[in-house]
Amino acid sequence: MANVIDYKIATLGSHTALQILKGAKDEGFKTICICEKGRTKPYKSYGVADEIIEIDNFKDYFKIEPQLIEQNAIIIPHGSYVAYIGAEKMMDVKAMHYGTKGILEWESDRTKERKWLLDADIKLPKIFKKPEDIDRPVIIKFHGARGGKGYFIANSPEEFYEKMEKHEEDADGNYVIQEYIVGVPVYSHYFYSRLNGELEIMSFDKRYESNADSIGRVAAKDQVDVGIRTTYTITGNVPIVLRESLLPEIFDMGQRVVDSSKKIVDGGLFGPFCLEGIIDPELNYFVFEISARIVAGTNPFVNGSPYTWLRYDEPMSTGRRIARDIKEAIERGEIEKILG
Ligand code: AMP
Ligand code: AMP
Repeated sequence: MANVIDYKIATLGSHTALQILKGAKDEGFKTICICEKGRTKPYKSYGVADEIIEIDNFKDYFKIEPQLIEQNAIIIPHGSYVAYIGAEKMMDVKAMHYGTKGILEWESDRTKERKWLLDADIKLPKIFKKPEDIDRPVIIKFHGARGGKGYFIANSPEEFYEKMEKHEEDADGNYVIQEYIVGVPVYSHYFYSRLNGELEIMSFDKRYESNADSIGRVAAKDQVDVGIRTTYTITGNVPIVLRESLLPEIFDMGQRVVDSSKKIVDGGLFGPFCLEGIIDPELNYFVFEISARIVAGTNPFVNGSPYTWLRYDEPMSTGRRIARDIKEAIERGEIEKILG
């Protein structure tokens, strides 16, 4: 029988690498961390990497890919992997890859993403096709994974054009104008395994964003006087436990997304994914984004979340859940079910 000893787990040293590698080791795998030069310290200090491969830039991934293939390594995609390798190049990855590659293209393209979520009957914020249509508070988001950097809010076409002056490089339409939903942000972390066909809720988080999360520390008058503008640069993540009566609908939303993913990409979505949105005072959950891979909001739960504790009775991070999926597939001789 094939065994975890025959494979290694590899990922890029950023984003969620610590929990992915730690989880892999907990499941008995040897691990490889691909780091940018000078950025190896955390992976050494926390002892999660059996081997570190240093490259000048993550974009040089393809130069070292033969080393991964030679060692029978399975690469785990995460946010930095998607950001630095780029959606176009991901299909060229030849090393064994956890999860369906094609689905990452759908999550990286806001138009495709919207089509998918609408098909899954998920509530989405309204999109405004042109600035002249703005008739309520909207949030302007730039394309590409920039961790919320530069996003701004506007109330009218005039305010949009005024604030857009600072974003000349994106003035050619490299943005989306979305209805601003007043409510609390909730990011729901799921895991779906093809081995047992079951959907799990792993945990929830909200982002800790600069300066959106500090603006309340400054009086409204001072905000206006000093001309502070709200921005959404991600700096960390805060764990959340959700009102329990919301869970049935959240399970249901996740299931609908998994079911609908099978219509858009061969093999569908599996492994970890996340619905990112805002819950309003009427308890409507408006989703503005889906991530079809592990999200950094799972990082507070290296030792498991209240929800994984209910199910597993042992520490189960999302990183470790991935490694367990891989291990079970290997032991059953069904490795094709976790590769894509
Ligand atoms: P980094 O490796 O930190 O440059 O992150 C690469 C991309 O992953 C960023 O552009 C973000 O979109 C995303 N990202 C990184 N850290 C987080 C986080 N803590 N929460 C959400 N997204 C993140
Ligand atoms: P995103 O990069 O799409 O994950 O958005 C980054 C942050 O912007 C979120 O964590 C929210 O704080 C905020 N945000 C995004 N979209 C909306 C929206 N439609 N309404 C209100 N806040 C939003």
